[in-house]
Amino acid sequence: MASARFGCVDGRAVLITDSLTSYVDIEKFSSGKLPSEPMACLERWSEVCKVAASLSPTDDLNAIALNANKLECPVPRPRQIFAIGINYKAHAAEMNNPLPKEPLVFTKFQSSLNSPNGSLTLVGEKCDFEAELVAVIAKGGRNILADEAWGHVAGLCVGQDVSDRALQYANTPPQFSLGKSRAGFTPIGPWITDAASLTTRANLEMTCRVSGEIMQHTQTDDMIFEIPEIISYLSTICELFSGDVIYTGTPSGVGAGRTPQRFLRSGDVIETTIQDLGTLTNKCI
Ligand code: ZN
Repeated sequence: MASARFGCVDGRAVLITDSLTSYVDIEKFSSGKLPSEPMACLERWSEVCKVAASLSPTDDLNAIALNANKLECPVPRPRQIFAIGINYKAHAAEMNNPLPKEPLVFTKFQSSLNSPNGSLTLVGEKCDFEAELVAVIAKGGRNILADEAWGHVAGLCVGQDVSDRALQYANTPPQFSLGKSRAGFTPIGPWITDAASLTTRANLEMTCRVSGEIMQHTQTDDMIFEIPEIISYLSTICELFSGDVIYTGTPSGVGAGRTPQRFLRSGDVIETTIQDLGTLTNKCI
C-alpha cells in the first residue's frame, strides 16, 4: 500500500484500499489494537500508518465495497479549524487585496463541517466556492519549527471553503468566520492521505469545476505561505492539537472575483479535485 488513506464510514475509522473502491474497518482489521473513533485514531497516526502498510492485495479482495456517498467527514470533531485568507498571489489580485506580510487567519466553525459528497444548502444569492488544500494535524504543540512541521501533519485532503459573500462583506471591514460557517459550508475529504508518503505534497494540482466548467485551476506551489510556515506561525500563537484542521487558502477563479461574477445556484454541482488526494462532489440545493 503506497499511502495510508484514512476515512470515516458510519462514524467509524476506515482505511481505503489502493483500488479506491473498497475499505477495511480499522478497529476490526487491527484486531482491536486501534480504536474505531476517528479522532482517537488521529492521535495514534503512526500506528494507523503501520496498520495501513500491512494491508495486502488479499485484504483488498476481502474489503467492503466503498459507496462514496457513505463517506463522512474524516475528521469529524476537530478542536480547531484554521483557515488562511489570501494565500495565492493571483487570488490576492482578483480580490483587490495587497499580499499579506503574515498569514491572514480566520476560523470555520465545527458545526459547518460536511461530508465529502454532502449536499450544500445555499443561503441567499451570493454563495461562492473556494477549492482548498487542507492539512490535518496528528501531533500538536507550540512553537513548532517550520523544518519540523511536516512531522506534525497526519495527512492532506481536499476542502471547500464555501463562503456567503453577502454575510462576509455585510460590514466594513469584512468579517470572515461567520460567512464561511453556515451549515454544510465546510466539506472535507474524501479521505486523509498520509503526508509522509506523499512525494508530491509540496506541489499538487488543484481544480474546481462548477457544473462541469473549470473555475479554479492551480498548482499549490503558488501559495504565499506554505504548509510548514503556516503551522509554525499558528503554533507561535495557538497551541495546536491532534485533529486540528488547517485550510490553506484558495487560488484565483472564485465566483466573486470573476467578470461577470458567478455565484452558486440551486442545481450546481461543485467538484473539487486535488491530485493524489481525491475529489469532493457537492450538489447545491
Ligand atoms: Zn478560503
